[in-house]
Amino acid sequence: MNNSGSNQDSNKIHNRSLILKLIKQHPGVTRTDLAQYSNLSKPAITKIVQEFTESGVIGELEDKKIRNKGLVFAKGRFYTISIYLGRLAVTGALFDLEGSLVTEMHLPQGVRFYGNDELPENALELIHMIIDSSGIQMDSILAVGIAAPGSVEIKKGLVFNRSLSSCDPGTQVPFNWGKIHLVEFLKEKTNLPIFIDNNSNLSALAESWFGKGVGVSNFVQYSVGIGIGGGAIIENRLFRGNDNIVCEIGHVTVDCEGERCFCGNTGCLETVAGFGKIVDAYEGSKHTCNEEELQQKLMKIFMRAEEGDAHALMVLKKHASKLGIGAVTLINMFSPEKLILSINDLEGISLSILIKEVEAYVKAYAYPIISDNVQVELSDFGANIHLYGAYALILENLFILIQEGHVRRVSR
Ligand SMILES: [Zn+2]
Repeated sequence: MNNSGSNQDSNKIHNRSLILKLIKQHPGVTRTDLAQYSNLSKPAITKIVQEFTESGVIGELEDKKIRNKGLVFAKGRFYTISIYLGRLAVTGALFDLEGSLVTEMHLPQGVRFYGNDELPENALELIHMIIDSSGIQMDSILAVGIAAPGSVEIKKGLVFNRSLSSCDPGTQVPFNWGKIHLVEFLKEKTNLPIFIDNNSNLSALAESWFGKGVGVSNFVQYSVGIGIGGGAIIENRLFRGNDNIVCEIGHVTVDCEGERCFCGNTGCLETVAGFGKIVDAYEGSKHTCNEEELQQKLMKIFMRAEEGDAHALMVLKKHASKLGIGAVTLINMFSPEKLILSINDLEGISLSILIKEVEAYVKAYAYPIISDNVQVELSDFGANIHLYGAYALILENLFILIQEGHVRRVSR
């Protein structure tokens, strides 16, 4: 295991996040084990653990015979809420801080490329629905984490107001959320800390905390579906680049003379390998249906392929090589230990039928040596990966919540 922490002050938050992650991944772990796993000094571990045990978020296993007691997350005391602004539905979930998903609810309307003025009110309604149905008191909730599509400005807690200056006059910019003050609105109405990040970043975070990325220092997460995206964990940290817009693999040009993409670019991978193209290839004509109908059609095609339908299998095999282009690009850019493939938004679809083809494409076309060493794996998460990612986002910020007194507020 290579989870090295640092004793420098500048890495204070990262070290605390690392210790929480290790306790999450190894329930019952002792302080001695934590020092060994993290490479932090024993006094540093003792100090950090004390902060967490005093706040009540971490407890000790009851065993009077053992001095060096095992550490676990508190159960049934603190809760968090995750909201995923999906294209097919807005989904919310209540998590016990210990990690159990207590309740999951959906609003039938997903977010759209344009508009979405009703989003703050709808998200608030969803939060109230979740709390009411679970019977949990509002004052047991530590924070809300939001996974959003598009460009997300995490430091200000705002979703970008994307500049129109680079576009043709009159061009509508997708996910141009500037007028939608979702975070401020929810903060004001719920009096809770609200964290927000891009959905692909949060998928990578979910894998890093709970999935195939556990214990892996460098990996890329590749989410495929109607939309295509990615996230990267580099040296155990989520890579954010300069503007928190990274791994936009779906918007890398793969066909210079291809279709115009909604992002303003031409021939993006998403226009070639987005799952709408599976339906087009299977039906032999360009689809005109909406995303809900597209999901139904895709479910049928994947089901037929699993039943051995030759046409469905041929279409998916061909499509997997297009997805392979994105996988190879991510691998050549980041030289990761793993590429983790996950489904984006679509429920009821298993990527297991595609993974071998994607892996074969990687082994054939990624840069030599990198391709020999990289593992291509399928995520264990389904369409709810973003909810776990938003929960992980809160865990990453748990130390800040403790410092700012929010945990004390809930502990009263
Ligand atoms: Zn694009």
